[in-house]
Amino acid sequence: MGTNVLIGQSGGLVDDRAYRKLKDDVFSVIWEELAPLEQEIENKEALPYDKIMPALRRVGAFGFLVPERFGGHGLMIRQYLPIIAEFAKIQGGVRVIVHVHNSFGHAISELANAEQQAALLPGVASGEKSVAFALTEPDYGTGADLGTRAYRDGADYVINGHKWLITNSDLASHFLVLAKTSDTEVSSILVERDRLGLTIEPLPETMGCKGGEHGRLTFSNVRVPVTNLVGKEGDGQDNLERALEISRVFIAASSLGTGQYAFELSLRHARQRITFGKPIAQRQAVQRYLAEMAMDLQALRLMLDDAAAKWDAGERIPAVASMVKLFGLEAVGRITDRALLVHGGIGYTRAHPVERLYRDARLNWLEEGTPTIQHLVTAREFLDGHWWADDFAGTKR
Ligand SMILES: Cc1cc2nc3c(=O)[nH]c(=O)nc-3n(C[C@H](O)[C@H](O)[C@H](O)COP(=O)(O)OP(=O)(O)OC[C@H]3O[C@@H](n4cnc5c(N)ncnc54)[C@H](O)[C@@H]3O)c2cc1C
Repeated sequence: MGTNVLIGQSGGLVDDRAYRKLKDDVFSVIWEELAPLEQEIENKEALPYDKIMPALRRVGAFGFLVPERFGGHGLMIRQYLPIIAEFAKIQGGVRVIVHVHNSFGHAISELANAEQQAALLPGVASGEKSVAFALTEPDYGTGADLGTRAYRDGADYVINGHKWLITNSDLASHFLVLAKTSDTEVSSILVERDRLGLTIEPLPETMGCKGGEHGRLTFSNVRVPVTNLVGKEGDGQDNLERALEISRVFIAASSLGTGQYAFELSLRHARQRITFGKPIAQRQAVQRYLAEMAMDLQALRLMLDDAAAKWDAGERIPAVASMVKLFGLEAVGRITDRALLVHGGIGYTRAHPVERLYRDARLNWLEEGTPTIQHLVTAREFLDGHWWADDFAGTKR
């Protein structure tokens, strides 16, 4: 296949030409079919699935990271990042469904056994099935501090507990549920949405990334077969860390996309808006805002390239992933803030997408863990001696 052949994460082959064609097709869908839905979604605070889903399915947007043998595109991480970044420029609710679907489909292709993969991944790639991630709880913390319990009863697990803020709760066919299987062990278990005893309720609408559902799940003696366990009992914490590690890089790429668009809009506005007889772009004060935005974008892009290269080379990257996620959210915070400054009063109205970008970006603080968690993971990695500042390489996956 010539020299331009890239080996996909999954072992699938994606040649450069095919990748460029895919990117063109996806970007056309993003800008020609999805971006025009922005006002409708923002006003109704609901996603018009009848318009969104067929467009996404047509370009295989649910299977970017699913191996080719299961019907996905089998993209490498460095190929996926520009795509999820582009989604983050348009209405955030659309970006979120694409992110969660691909991120946790990817987690299944990395963590699940061969039978689970064969049962799930073809449907995930086509968009007929979708795995949502159910970690957060209303009455407990995360990680080891979980109230949801799963106990063995013959060939089943019986699950009790509560989860909330679970994205795609309206769409998901399966939930990857983190539950305690003993006082000290966390396990990850797949739960089909139609299991008896599982109640799914919507939560109030969000500040930004409007339209998607982030619901509340109640498990009342929900029975699933033990074959729904992902990995071994007690693997939950490790599965959680592995799934979130790369997903944090996807959030950082979303920060890049939102930031890039805020920058482009600011540049355009600064060139067009005339005060005291000159475009504001000619004022040094405004140039400083623009230069600072560009600097944040450049640094974030380089950190993302590094994270993707390491992951694609087969490394674990907990510290690198937490750092880029944290830097990304702080950078997009600064960039969208400066975008509002450049736009003046009109930027505070719905006349300009910068108002939406500012709200959408704010979710990046929360998805895949708060800043506190990213500080904690980063510090743990160097305090435990896993990497040093001049050698950020992680351990092999
Ligand atoms: C729109 C949206 C979509 C989401 N989607 C999902 C999803 O699909 N699946 C899912 O499982 N979750 C999801 N979440 C939940 C999200 O991951 C959490 O909200 C986030 O990780 C923070 O957890 P929390 O809400 O429990 O906050 P809390 O844990 O209550 O944190 C509140 C504050 O206290 C700090 N804090 C908490 N514990 C500690 C500690 N031990 N030490 C120091 N500081 C601490 C936090 O850093 C934060 O600043 C979503 C949230 C939103 C808003």
